[in-house]
Amino acid sequence: MCGVIGIVTRGNAAAQLYYGMTALQHRGQDAAGMLTLNGGPKMKKGLGHVDKIFSQHDIQELDGNIGIGHTRYPTASSNNKHEDAHPFLVSSTKRVGMIHNGNLTNYYALRELLKKRGVFLETENDVEMMSKIFAHEYEKKQDVFFAVERLMARVKGAYSVLTAIEDVGLVAFRDPNGIRPLMLGKNENGYCLASESIVFQQLGYERVRDLEAGEVILITKDLEVTNRIIKQKTAYPCMFEWVYFARPDSIIDDRAVYNARLQLGVQLAKIFEKEVDVVIPVPDTARTTALKFAETIGVKYREGLIKNRYSGRTFIMPDQKTREQAVSVKLNPIITVIKDKRVAVVDDSIVRGTTSKRIVMLLRNAGAKEVHFISACPPIKNPCFYGIDFPTDKELIAGARSVDEIREYMGADSLTYQSIEGVKTACKKTSMCMACLDGKYPLKIPMEQQEVMAAARAEARKC
Ligand code: SF4
Repeated sequence: MCGVIGIVTRGNAAAQLYYGMTALQHRGQDAAGMLTLNGGPKMKKGLGHVDKIFSQHDIQELDGNIGIGHTRYPTASSNNKHEDAHPFLVSSTKRVGMIHNGNLTNYYALRELLKKRGVFLETENDVEMMSKIFAHEYEKKQDVFFAVERLMARVKGAYSVLTAIEDVGLVAFRDPNGIRPLMLGKNENGYCLASESIVFQQLGYERVRDLEAGEVILITKDLEVTNRIIKQKTAYPCMFEWVYFARPDSIIDDRAVYNARLQLGVQLAKIFEKEVDVVIPVPDTARTTALKFAETIGVKYREGLIKNRYSGRTFIMPDQKTREQAVSVKLNPIITVIKDKRVAVVDDSIVRGTTSKRIVMLLRNAGAKEVHFISACPPIKNPCFYGIDFPTDKELIAGARSVDEIREYMGADSLTYQSIEGVKTACKKTSMCMACLDGKYPLKIPMEQQEVMAAARAEARKC
C-alpha cells in the first residue's frame, strides 16, 4: 500500500508533512521519507515509524514551501531495506523527487528494456524506474504534462504518484484505472495532496475532490493549479481500501469508509443464520462492521477482545514468524463477555487463516460455548499485483479450500463470508477492483511478472 502526501504552501511544508505522515502511518510502518524544496531539494528517509525517523531538528532543516512525504509498506521486491524507502531523487536538468503508492505490472519487462538502453537501476523499486523515465522525458521539453503522458505510455499498473520538481512545483497523477487513491485538498495558504482525506482534516485543509483516473495536476511554487486527463479508462478503485486498509474517518473516491463499513455489517446480517448471545469485533478495523451487524440482528455488541495497541498490525508484518509472534501478544479475551456464550466474532477479512484460527482458540479457551466466525470481506482467493502484499494463492487460505474446509481448519462452529454483491452495495461502486476475490484483474498481468513476484514474496517470507 503506502501513504503519500504532498504540500505546496506559503510557509514551510515540513511540519505539515510530518503530521500528515503520522496520519498515514497505518498505510505503511516499514519506512518513511520526506523531501522538501527550497530552491534545491533536501531529503531525509529511514526505516521505522515517522516519529522515530524525524527529529525536531530535521523538520527545521527540511525547509521550503514544497514537499512530499511517504510512509512505506513492504511489498514483493523489498523487505525493509533503506534503499527502498521513498522519496527517490533523480538529477537531470532539474532535480526530481518522487514517491508513489501502488505497483507496476510491467516492471520486469520495462527493466530489461531500460537495461538494454543502458539505464542503470540501483534498486528493484518501481518508483526509481518511474522517476528516471519521468526525469528523462521532462528534460526533452520541460513540460510536466508531456513527461507524464510519456511515462503513462510506458508503465502499466496501479500508481498514485507525487513528484516535486526543483524550481517548478508539485505534480500529482493517478493511473488510468485509478486503482490506488489520491485526492486534493485546499486551504487559504495552499494545497495538499494525499492518499486519504484524514490528512486534510488533521492539517486544516478542505477536501476538494479525488483525482480522476488518468488525471495529472500541476501546482506551481506560486500556487497556480493546472490539470489534464492524460489517459483514462474505466475506474477500478481497490475495494480493500473500504474493507480494511483506509482509516474509518477517511473518504475515498467520494465514499466515506465508515459508512461503507457500517453497510458491510448490514449486508452480513442478511446472510447470517445462527442464533448467538453476543457479537464481538476483532479490533480495530472490524469494529464498525460488527457494531452495525449486531444492531441489525438485534444482539448485544461487546468488546470481547482487547488489543495491545503497541503490537502493530499482523497483516502488515513482513514474514510469517513475525506475524505469529505478533498475534499472540496482540489480543486478549475478556472472559466475562465470552464465558458460556454463543459468540459471533467479526473480522475484516481472512487472509492466511492463521490469525483467525488463533482467535477461535482464544475464545474457546476463554469459555465460549460456540464460536461463529464472520468475515466482512468475501474469500480472498487470488494474489494482488497492484500494491497489496497478499501471499501467493497457495498461502491464501481460500485459494484452494471450500468454506467448510476453512471453518474446520479454524475450529469454528460456523463461518460466514460477506458476499461480493454485499461489498459492491456497501462501497456504492458499480466498478471496483475485486480481483483478489473474483480473479477478474482489470489490467493483464504478464506471466513473467506473476512468477517473479511470487518468487520474491516466497523469498521475503523466508527472511
Ligand atoms: S486485487 Fe484486491 S487488494 Fe489488489 S487492488 Fe484489486 S481489490 Fe485491491
